[in-house]
Amino acid sequence: MSSIQLSARQKQIISIVQQQGPITGEKIAEELSLTRATLRPDLAILTMAGYLDARPRVGYFYAGKEAANLVGELLKKALVKDYKSVPVVVHTSTTAYDAVVTMFLEDVGTLYVVNENGILAGVVSRKDLLKVAIGHPHLQGVPVSLAMTRMPNITTIKLEDTMYDAAKKLISAQVDSLPVVKEAIDSQWEVVGRVTKTTITRLFVELGENIE
Ligand code: ADP
Repeated sequence: MSSIQLSARQKQIISIVQQQGPITGEKIAEELSLTRATLRPDLAILTMAGYLDARPRVGYFYAGKEAANLVGELLKKALVKDYKSVPVVVHTSTTAYDAVVTMFLEDVGTLYVVNENGILAGVVSRKDLLKVAIGHPHLQGVPVSLAMTRMPNITTIKLEDTMYDAAKKLISAQVDSLPVVKEAIDSQWEVVGRVTKTTITRLFVELGENIE
């Protein structure tokens, strides 16, 4: 870090970023009751001098921060809506046999079972289907709803929740995936995505790359 003479305002900026980073330029300007344009030269100087680090879409960090801290902060800022993947859904009237076929074709370990309006009715995992297969050798005649875990016993996550919340829920519920839901009418939940252990692992790798 170079030893330039910092102005009072630049010192203020550093302390704001230390306390609140990652923080956007707009937010720093707001804290100091200045415009973003007034602040721009200071932010450029502090970034070039190595006091601050700027990351696209996230904001400014104090560059002297511990890497472990940085990961924690990024994780708590990463939102489910930005990392979720596409849900694989089947209808409640689907047979257990077709559910197995869908799992292979879509290469997923869990399917979300929905009614006509895309409302979440249940979740069916690989082991749920294996279990039902033991008692019913002819899976063509078995509805998937017989094998699934039903609402309201499903652990879900919302679009605006953080990936950190999602990771904690995956661990505490001891499941492989969480349906991402959006409230529809009458406190019913529409399935709009999924977060799996793979989604979390992908984010973990991305965070690692950010720090290198
Ligand atoms: P597997 O059964 O293939 O090991 P999981 O560990 O995800 O896969 O599922 C364990 C059990 O939990 C299954 O009975 C499944 O129906 C249920 N389950 C899976 N995901 C959820 C969830 N998000 N909320 C509640 N139950 C779930």
